[in-house]
Amino acid sequence: MDFLTFMSVFLLLISTSCYGLSENHHGDEEGGLLVVAPAKQQKEFDYFLLALLWPGTLCQGTNHCCSANACCRSNATSMFTIHGLWVNYNDGTWPACCNNGSNFDIKKITPLLGGLQIYWPSLSCNLESTCDGGKGLFWAHEWEKHGTCATPVIWDEYTYFLTTLNIYFKYNITKILIEEGYIPSNSEKYPLGGIVSAIQNAVRATPLLVCSDGAVQELRLCFCKNFEPQDCPNNVTPEEACPRYVSLPEYVPRSLGGKRSIPWSSNREAI
Ligand code: 5GP
Repeated sequence: MDFLTFMSVFLLLISTSCYGLSENHHGDEEGGLLVVAPAKQQKEFDYFLLALLWPGTLCQGTNHCCSANACCRSNATSMFTIHGLWVNYNDGTWPACCNNGSNFDIKKITPLLGGLQIYWPSLSCNLESTCDGGKGLFWAHEWEKHGTCATPVIWDEYTYFLTTLNIYFKYNITKILIEEGYIPSNSEKYPLGGIVSAIQNAVRATPLLVCSDGAVQELRLCFCKNFEPQDCPNNVTPEEACPRYVSLPEYVPRSLGGKRSIPWSSNREAI
């Protein structure tokens, strides 16, 4: 079975209406923003959120290069890259680290590594925190923190990464924006409402944008449990909120501290 056929069958199997999957409450709802509870006490999530990053903005803060950091790639990365597929509750909270036994294992996603390196790269040289308090790859952080909470829709690491890549390709946000004239630029400012409308028209749901100093830093798409798009709740903090006119900075390859910027490779050593 080829990749596309596999995904079509997979999406068909899990397809139900937006609210079709039964709620599975394992415990009391907790207050606060971040709900961290052992798997047995975790209630089932309400919706998915695909978080995308804009390297043109995030890489402006790069002050140290290493080969694992996509901000140090010599070729332009003028596209949204994947941050993660998160699961949220409708009340504005979210579960995290739902199964400490399910530690990230890179061997389980070997067939996907080529795509992950391009479309889901780390934009930092630092290792990320894992759920057991250790440090690991960006992918390990995303799977352990968010992916393990995606049951009963996503049960395993391979399916988590495959599903995320497929949604990312299906809703090609970079292409949607470029076709509507929102070209990466270090001088232009674009109306936030125009960007939101372009995505609403293409995806049929309202995205959420996060900004840093007036530049788009993250773009979030929300999905029902059957992966049909749904509107994202507007729950960004005032510091993350975008102004009426935003920039979409061009990606400038970093070449820092007198060190040569090299094409990205999967090795993690500093250069
Ligand atoms: P990560 O830890 O995956 O790199 O980034 C997730 C962070 O984004 C969380 O720690 C949290 O502070 C923030 N965040 C903001 N909005 C949301 C949301 O709607 N869902 C989740 N899961 N995290 C969010």
